[in-house]
Amino acid sequence: MRVLVFGAGGFIGSHLCRRLLESGYEVTAVDVRRDYKVRSFEGHPALTYITQDIRDHAWPLDAYVRDSDLVIDLIAHANPGLYIRIPLEVFQLNFIENLRIAESCVRHGKRLIQFSTCEVYGRTVASIEGIGLQDPEDPRHATFSEDRSELILGPVCKHRWIYASAKQLLERVLHAYGLEQGLNYTIIRPFNFIGPNIDFLPDERDGIPRVFSFFMDALMHGRPMVLVNGGRQRRCYTYIDDAIDCTQRIVENPGGVCDRQIFNIGHPGNEVRISEFAVMMREIYMEKFARRGERAVEIVEQSGEEFYGAGYDDSDRRIPDITKARTLLGWEPKWGLRAMLEATMEYYVNEYARDVLGSHRIPAEA
Ligand code: NAD
Ligand code: UDP
Repeated sequence: MRVLVFGAGGFIGSHLCRRLLESGYEVTAVDVRRDYKVRSFEGHPALTYITQDIRDHAWPLDAYVRDSDLVIDLIAHANPGLYIRIPLEVFQLNFIENLRIAESCVRHGKRLIQFSTCEVYGRTVASIEGIGLQDPEDPRHATFSEDRSELILGPVCKHRWIYASAKQLLERVLHAYGLEQGLNYTIIRPFNFIGPNIDFLPDERDGIPRVFSFFMDALMHGRPMVLVNGGRQRRCYTYIDDAIDCTQRIVENPGGVCDRQIFNIGHPGNEVRISEFAVMMREIYMEKFARRGERAVEIVEQSGEEFYGAGYDDSDRRIPDITKARTLLGWEPKWGLRAMLEATMEYYVNEYARDVLGSHRIPAEA
């Protein structure tokens, strides 16, 4: 089976390509980048890697889709810093360019697995001012299921939501293509995946990565960890290996159970406030990776607007309902938060620091 993977050189894409190749698939990988993230699978005999910007419309996208059996699309601007800095480009890439891929799948009758986001759920009912819920802390208010939950996004002047809006519109258009023109799609909504290859550290490149990389950078460079808006927000973190296990089941699509379905992929048991997440990362760092005599960094606070710029807003809390993945695919996430942080931090302190930053950190016990 020939799988065409767009966004193959990114965090999720790199893990997915490796898994597909190890499982015997033939993979055509497309990404504008080709860097250290692809090391674990480049050179595989069943891989064709194409370094290509899909916004170049002279590139024969249609021919590649026609010649594949399955298309997986992971391309997106996927970091909140970008939603604030370049909202128009976020819309153009995450909606318009991805729509071109989907329409090519419609033309050639190909199955499409589209990566969307848990951010389409937006905020919880409990976050709406004056709503007066009896028990706003009840996790049921923050537990989102694919086909039942309302999607609650913030105002237009908070342009963070352009990302979720673009992804949501793409989902709705795929659904409409399914209804009217028979597109066979599966949509994946990831809930905060973590693992090796997640984002560059902010020092390395001009950009604003996701929170794990900010905290890791602070720890490795002895700088304060910054909690945005006090770190009250909650997330459910999911280890990349668990996420790829579920994605592989979706690729295999036993008995067509994933046809025209949306799946949450996330670990409902790993909910944590960002403030607790920072403390846990600092503890692990001091226990396992700090140099002798190294002191714990400070944890400080900043407003969202100071940290990201005007137009920042946030999801307050989101817990995946994974009943569908459990019942249709028999999938269960296994990795707890502490274990996934230890594994990911070890990767950054050792491999990433050596291969990308050019320095090697020595664990305290050494
Ligand atoms: P990522 O940024 O690591 O990967 C995206 C890849 O797309 C990058 O390698 C990038 O180079 C590539 N790309 C961007 N523009 C391109 C272009 N014009 N042409 C060709 N390639 C281009 O992000 P990720 O974390 O791997 O996320 C993959 C998908 O999953 C995205 O659609 C994202 O929105 C979604 N998602 C991820 C998470 C998560 O926890 N990682 C959460 C929610 C949604
Ligand atoms: N955040 C933080 N400190 C940082 C970076 C991010 O407190 O240095 C917060 C951010 O405001 C958000 C959460 O951490 O509430 C997760 O942010 P991330 O960028 O990882 O992605 P999100 O889950 O919001 O898509």
